[in-house]
Amino acid sequence: MRALTASEIIQLWETAYRFHPIDRALSILQQVMPEHNRDALAAMPLGQRDALLLSLRQATFGDALPGKDHCPQCNETVEFELSCTSLAANMTEPQHKRLSRDSYSITTRPLNSFDLAAAARATTQQQARDLLLQRCVVESRYHDKTIATETLPLEIENSITETALAADPQAEMMLDLSCPACQHQWQTLLDVGHILWLEIAARAQQLLMEVHHLAKAYGWTEAEILRLSPTRRATYLQMVAA
Ligand SMILES: [Zn+2]
Repeated sequence: MRALTASEIIQLWETAYRFHPIDRALSILQQVMPEHNRDALAAMPLGQRDALLLSLRQATFGDALPGKDHCPQCNETVEFELSCTSLAANMTEPQHKRLSRDSYSITTRPLNSFDLAAAARATTQQQARDLLLQRCVVESRYHDKTIATETLPLEIENSITETALAADPQAEMMLDLSCPACQHQWQTLLDVGHILWLEIAARAQQLLMEVHHLAKAYGWTEAEILRLSPTRRATYLQMVAA
């Protein structure tokens, strides 16, 4: 995976800021994978999408991914550092899963961005959950006869939710955290698309500030300044500030 260039970072920030987070993640990937059309990227299992986002993040901003959360018990700030490469390496090939229980046999597929977009339009959490369930079930059988997913008992539905997510472990990247102050332990969700978007937005604004200072000092165009290597830009900025 190649890194985003300075002008791509600004272009992404400018166009994708008004998008839904699901579309932002897809726009970021499409920038470096133009050979994949948007529908193909949206149909990609979420685990695979996140692994690609992590490679892109590693190439553009480096491997070390710092994060922080607050202890739900005592509100202590807990900081941690992850590695994009090792997170991406945990990805297993997503596949269809079969669940057999109490004469029911259910086949599920991993969730993708189309599923998330459909769930995002739901008005209640229950409706979103039902929608995802409907979409991830490829086939439901009871005593070897095909049945409608809506007729499944709640216990089976709950098992499906677990199975569908287990088929694609990166679709829900849960981190185990523990509080150094009160030893409370909890889990937090790592949203790679969101983290990468925040970094792109911050870098775009920093780059525009650099363009502003260098254009004012030397009269260069935005394109000329963005084509400079980060080292050269930093050196000229130091000279302007001196
Ligand atoms: Zn605590």
